[in-house]
Amino acid sequence: MTTTLRETNVLVIGSGPAGYTAAIYAARANLKPILISGHEPGGQLTITTDVENYPGFATAIQGPWLMEQMRDQALHVGTEMLVDYVSKVDFTTHPFKAWTEGGLEIQARTVIICTGAQARWLGLPSEETYRGMGVSACATCDGFFYRNKHVAVIGGGNSAVEEALFLTNFASKVTLIHRRDSLRAERIAQDRLFNHPKIEVIWNTEIEEITGILPGGDVPPGVTGMILRQVKTGALSTIEVDGVFVAIGHDPATKVFKSHVDMDDSGYILTAPDSTVTSIPGVYAAGDVKDKIYRQAITAAGMGCMAALEADRFIHGVLADAEKAEAA
Ligand code: NDP
Repeated sequence: MTTTLRETNVLVIGSGPAGYTAAIYAARANLKPILISGHEPGGQLTITTDVENYPGFATAIQGPWLMEQMRDQALHVGTEMLVDYVSKVDFTTHPFKAWTEGGLEIQARTVIICTGAQARWLGLPSEETYRGMGVSACATCDGFFYRNKHVAVIGGGNSAVEEALFLTNFASKVTLIHRRDSLRAERIAQDRLFNHPKIEVIWNTEIEEITGILPGGDVPPGVTGMILRQVKTGALSTIEVDGVFVAIGHDPATKVFKSHVDMDDSGYILTAPDSTVTSIPGVYAAGDVKDKIYRQAITAAGMGCMAALEADRFIHGVLADAEKAEAA
């Protein structure tokens, strides 16, 4: 395949709220950004339904619609958007280089990485069936819909414990189900969990199947329960729940950037405090690709904005000075 060379001030990689916001700010700063959207433009919100916590909308909006609006806004202010996938980067020389599956070599004065993260799922067919109909990977997004209901949280890390505690604000009962007999969450979070009157923990147990009512009948569709398997004995049992929150971790989409920017042990990109700058000046990371604590569309969008402002300052500060010095 022949390679086509492109040049840009700002290369935005990824098309979730962080990427689109970075592109909107970069375009409005006249930086003519190129955004590479990846295989599934729009990111995690495209697989969500109701969004009630994105400010600016008095009533619930649909996740895919919100992402279309962000995309159109980024286009409208002058972003060049390419549906392509960055498969290789080189940040050792300036301008930075990125190669795409579609045959582009992009030379970029700054790069903003917004490739996001994906929730891990159990991998059960029934989990897939009821996703968005009682199965969720985000209590902050969907907990509100379970007022006075019984919900289950799967997992034993900080996310699972935080989600379980958060869900007690709405649910009448929260059952945390973990595959081992101890949690890996921080001690203080565990203490809160164990002392909470609404929370029950089921140990050494995996999910065999999620049961529910399929769409198309007279009764509203949704989750009604689960079949559980005791890990040690293999014994099966059932539990009635109205919602299942899977909280078994996330995988940041950072494989392409491994060894090019510093990351933590889980593959999240490290950035300087109060900044989106990575270990390479001129390369920024925004959104879930660098954030394992908040993971919200609005926080990702905020970080995208920060990254574009930082890229703008870098171009008009450090790079402009260096280019002046070179010309002198
Ligand atoms: P973790 O990887 O820490 O925990 C995942 C949990 O899910 C583990 O208990 C694991 O079980 C369980 N699990 C994994 N796969 C399966 C499976 N197939 N079936 C059943 N259970 C499974 O993920 P988290 O999202 O909780 O946290 C990720 C990182 O983010 C951590 O470093 C955490 O500390 C951090 N974090 C920090 C927060 C904060 O500071 N406020 C909030 C949330 C996360 P097992 O224990 O048996 O391996």
